Amino acid sequence: MKAPKFSYVRAESVEHACRLLAEHGDEARILAGGQSLIPTLNMRLSRPSLLIDINRLEHLAGAIFNGKEVRIGALTRHADVMLSHMVAKYLPLVAEAIPHVAHVAVRNRGTFGGSVALADPAAEMPACLLALGGRLVLQSVRGVREVAAENYFHGLYQTAREPDEVLIEALIPPQSNDERSSFKELSRRHGDFATAGMCARAKVRGGTLTSVRLVYFGSEVKPTLARTAMAAAEGKPWNETTADAVSAALAVDLDPMDNLMGKPATKLHWQRVLTKRALDDITSKAKAA
Ligand SMILES: Cc1cc2nc3c(=O)[nH]c(=O)nc-3n(C[C@H](O)[C@H](O)[C@H](O)COP(=O)(O)OP(=O)(O)OC[C@H]3O[C@@H](n4cnc5c(N)ncnc54)[C@H](O)[C@@H]3O)c2cc1C
Repeated sequence: MKAPKFSYVRAESVEHACRLLAEHGDEARILAGGQSLIPTLNMRLSRPSLLIDINRLEHLAGAIFNGKEVRIGALTRHADVMLSHMVAKYLPLVAEAIPHVAHVAVRNRGTFGGSVALADPAAEMPACLLALGGRLVLQSVRGVREVAAENYFHGLYQTAREPDEVLIEALIPPQSNDERSSFKELSRRHGDFATAGMCARAKVRGGTLTSVRLVYFGSEVKPTLARTAMAAAEGKPWNETTADAVSAALAVDLDPMDNLMGKPATKLHWQRVLTKRALDDITSKAKAA
């Protein structure tokens, strides 16, 4: 099928894009990499009357460390996140996760901001943002505001972003030297959307886990912080007893979707397996350091 008719404007500035969004409301869509938007137009799942192309706004692309946090511009292509020395150095969790985002052709066009704006429940970058305690910067004709990742993802493709807001960048605190992270994902083929996936962070001292943070995606309607499982691991040595307690706690935190990818009980099992692998990985990384 072909896309329905739409008008096209190339934004000259963020302010220009904001003015157009304010004028056209829900009828307008930002066009970033187009890797998700264009297929939905072609399948007629979405019928915006105006596309606002932000691809010439080059200042929205790139990853830099400003001395306090890493700023990833909304227009940074997945491929550039993958090649970024700043990401490799300060955000090892993102560096580990990014090769799982789609395939080379999609990574060459698809953007960090597009992924975060869309909030696909199986997307890797939203889960990383939540695990790392990142913030999103949103701009509209009303001004600029920041939203913590914990308050940004509301549900299935639902976020705190208002229809008239452009996502400008993500601000992410760097991983500290005494912290280790691990990213695990299960998908039918490498590069496909995850059927289950998780991000883990923790400090390991003398075999004991502290500052544990566990985030799940793929199985849930949105990236989900597993607070009960985090509490079950906090201050404990990573052994079979803790692994059983964390596994049991995940049943409280997770509410997997029932869909073609699998039954809730199967997905809960997958997430438990991935959690054990991730925390094994974190303790091995800590020992090797
Ligand atoms: C075959 C295939 C496999 C894929 N596999 C994966 C995968 O494994 N993991 C994964 O995470 N993704 C995957 N994707 C999606 C891919 O990562 C997309 O690039 C991403 O979801 C959207 O980014 P985009 O830049 O292409 O956004 P677009 O398609 O241009 O836009 C997507 C949505 O976000 C809005 N938007 C985009 N940028 C902004 C902004 N700055 N401000 C406000 N709104 C904005 C658009 O209006 C639109 O509604 C896959 C896509 C394909 C086609």
